[in-house]
Amino acid sequence: MNITSRYFYPAEYQKKSLEALEIAMGTAPLYEDWRALDPGLGTALDQRYAALPELTKKAMREHFPQGLVPNHLQVQDGLARNEIEYTFTSGTTEEKVVNLWNQTWWNQSEAASWKLNAHTACLDYPQKYAQLASALNVGIQCEQDLPMENRILGHNLFLNEKISVMQWQPSHLARMARELKIFKPVILEANPSLLARLAWWAWDTGQELYSPAAILFTFEYPSQIHLAAIRRVFSSPLISSYGTTETGFVLMQCEAGLFHQNTDFCRIDFQPLTARHGGPDLGQILVTTFNNPWTSILKFDVGDLIRLHPTGQCACGRNEGLLVEAIEGRMANATFTTQGDLVTTMALDTQLARIPEIRDYHLEQRSRTQYELQLVLTNSRTDSSAEVLDRTRQALESLYGRDGEFTLTVVPDLLPGPAGKYRRTQANFDFDPKGLFA
Ligand SMILES: [Zn+2]
Repeated sequence: MNITSRYFYPAEYQKKSLEALEIAMGTAPLYEDWRALDPGLGTALDQRYAALPELTKKAMREHFPQGLVPNHLQVQDGLARNEIEYTFTSGTTEEKVVNLWNQTWWNQSEAASWKLNAHTACLDYPQKYAQLASALNVGIQCEQDLPMENRILGHNLFLNEKISVMQWQPSHLARMARELKIFKPVILEANPSLLARLAWWAWDTGQELYSPAAILFTFEYPSQIHLAAIRRVFSSPLISSYGTTETGFVLMQCEAGLFHQNTDFCRIDFQPLTARHGGPDLGQILVTTFNNPWTSILKFDVGDLIRLHPTGQCACGRNEGLLVEAIEGRMANATFTTQGDLVTTMALDTQLARIPEIRDYHLEQRSRTQYELQLVLTNSRTDSSAEVLDRTRQALESLYGRDGEFTLTVVPDLLPGPAGKYRRTQANFDFDPKGLFA
């Protein structure tokens, strides 16, 4: 039985799924090679999708710029009319991809995702935004400190103009707190790792922070440690929004805490891992986009591991599309027990979040049995960390296996990766991700 049969898909969704498939296969050059694999009309739609391969970044690069564009449209015309522009993704694990960016479609996709949480559904789109992320991901890059008015673009305030958090001084954190109070954004969109730093600063110095109507997390996996720190100083609802540059907004966390599929703008095909590695409810998703006149994305592997909810029933009452319990981190950031079973970033994060002295961490698996964990501890505990390390070691042993070799180090701080995002877990040996799937 198909694992997604527990979810409800409205007729409109099936219609859009069919349209997306027909348009892509019929008009976009990249899919010419796929046509022979399509069993065609007369075969159930899900089976047609299942028969097709997944879209890789490599194929997208090789066919850029016209590959995903219907053959009656020319990229040059779209660029000239400002309907599209080139955009560079800041992928953390693979080479960068250039995409055709369609701002109108992106906004529509975002607006649709807002309907999936009561705290954003009650707002008109768009709203006054403040954003806190690396300048590599959004906004304006500048080594010099820019005054607030130079960081406002339209209805957006960029709270940060630095590439790395290592450039932040206490004066920058004080500036963010001050500007939130002055600008009063309705939405604060943040990389949770960066917002946690502001939260700790506010907690440590006793500063009050302005709480917007909603805080939306994007950019990277939100650590439960950081969510707890943010929750202490902001009274706003915290909402994870999941999407990619290629696919727009895919999943949105509702007020009951589960993730709903943005069914107006994308189709999701689910690939379960084998039972040994956490399947069938844990797996990866392949995303197909709807309604983007300039780009036909079919079955794009977004690279994250998703845990399906065991039923299609959410307390919020929404019932369309995939219901997801958690987004557990990137496949490329998977680690393994000493027996070789997959461990998601979230599985480790859940263990470490139970140790309140930990502020941040980075786990590198050196071999099948060797693990190196770097820890940042709360300010007050850096000199008396032996007991904390003991508890942490026990947590690692219970997760990875008692026969593992664990090296724990306390460090003053941890740096984000080259794309301005954190990678908290990684295995430094080759493994075949495809071999983990059912
Ligand atoms: Zn819900």
